Amino acid sequence: MGSNQSSYCYHQSNKFQGTSEQLQAIEQIQSEFQITTDHMHAIVDQFIKEMQKGLDHHGATVAMIPSFVSGRPTGEEKGKYLALDLGGTNLRVCQVELLGQGKYHLHQQKYVVSDQLKTGDMRHLCDFIADCVDDFISEHGDPHEKVDMGYTFSFPIWQTSINSGELKQWTKGFACANAVGTDPAVLLQDAFHRKNLLVNIAAIVNDTVGTLMAHAYRHPETTMGVILGTGSNTCYYEDISRITKFEADNNKILSNEMVVNMEWGAFDCERRILPFTMYDNKLNRESVNINEQLFEKMISGMYLAEIARNCMLHWIDRLVLFGGQSSPELNMQWRFETAYMSTIHGDHSPNLTATKHVLEDIMDMPAGSTTLADRQLVQAICIAVGQRSARLAACGLAGIIKHKKMINDDDDDKKNDCLIAIDGSLFEFYPEYEANMMSALVDLFGEKIRHRVRFELSRDGSGLGASVIAMMASKMAKQ
Ligand code: ADP
Ligand code: MG
Repeated sequence: MGSNQSSYCYHQSNKFQGTSEQLQAIEQIQSEFQITTDHMHAIVDQFIKEMQKGLDHHGATVAMIPSFVSGRPTGEEKGKYLALDLGGTNLRVCQVELLGQGKYHLHQQKYVVSDQLKTGDMRHLCDFIADCVDDFISEHGDPHEKVDMGYTFSFPIWQTSINSGELKQWTKGFACANAVGTDPAVLLQDAFHRKNLLVNIAAIVNDTVGTLMAHAYRHPETTMGVILGTGSNTCYYEDISRITKFEADNNKILSNEMVVNMEWGAFDCERRILPFTMYDNKLNRESVNINEQLFEKMISGMYLAEIARNCMLHWIDRLVLFGGQSSPELNMQWRFETAYMSTIHGDHSPNLTATKHVLEDIMDMPAGSTTLADRQLVQAICIAVGQRSARLAACGLAGIIKHKKMINDDDDDKKNDCLIAIDGSLFEFYPEYEANMMSALVDLFGEKIRHRVRFELSRDGSGLGASVIAMMASKMAKQ
């Protein structure tokens, strides 16, 4: 198996002082979470097949949803817009003034959405959002002025126009009643009417599309928008002629390409090709969306720590980790966080003191109870789960690169064929995440890929990006 996967699995590998069972555990963990280059090629091939199914017909696993955003921004667009972001950790309301030349001003306010609202009735959630927008406008805007809004609604939506669509399903812990099958823009617009707000929802924006457009406003050559945060998903520019299921209304299309929101998180829900471990299966079984979003569940921030926690508990129960002791915190579902994995993954201290802090001060293992070998084992788990996430995300990107034939073997000098805008704390903060994605792409395509693909952090998708899209939508409406 031709794998060049970097093979370290905890940082001071030569100094491992644990028992032979612990060493065996580390080897087993590494092999369970490793994805060889051959396996990655098979995943990429399957991914491309699923993309084609999604472009061809409705109801495919990878939904490949036309976003109705066609044409690229120039950076010269101007005007004042509102933007709203639902589906991340917080609800965010922004006012964006596009100034041209890729420049803009942005004011924003964050609001906490309680778990009760996330799983209650959709009407209550919409009324809450309208209250937040009302509050924001009283503070930052002019309540007597009509304003267009870009509504970033980061859940799978079947879009029927730039500002209408139907919610297919909830993800990421949301589960409001009376929402699936309805139009989230209509529900929210109704709530705005109830409060007499002069806000017009001009566009429904998926966060991937917002990320792409925010980056494209400043760098028009951007080709993809990727989310690596609570969830994971990607969009890219597709030739409209290849979206065979899409009946284009030519009057409303500004160019021959359209951004497609892939909803890649659903890839391989048939379990054909992804390397599910028992820890993944346990997480899936205990999740609110069983057997859905299986690719996302191996990649995104919401899930990685839970996979790692399941793995820790497995080795605790075998008396290999922490001498068989656990803590109430460690036993609690979802209690271990992906941010802690970043700390542990990045812990290069000789005694793994940062790891000790996470385990003993945050996860409440008794003070002084963890040995260095325990901490190395925990670090091996975090590194294995984190690396696998980056390699799988890279497989999805490689699928798009191959499908779009972005890498051209003939002219080796052409630089940066593919600029990829990425939003999300996982990409931003997880140690070596970008390097691990790139090394997976090198495994797949060879060294030349390094000059052809560039990743850039783009964090204003739901503010700047949604405003750019609201602007494009109001331009289209006026045509
Ligand atoms: P969202 O996706 O909700 O819009 P973010 O992009 O900030 O917002 O992603 C938040 C998610 O990223 C959290 O759910 C958590 O899983 C993960 N996360 C937060 N901080 C870190 C960190 N330091 N390292 C790795 N992952 C993180
Ligand atoms: Mg986000």
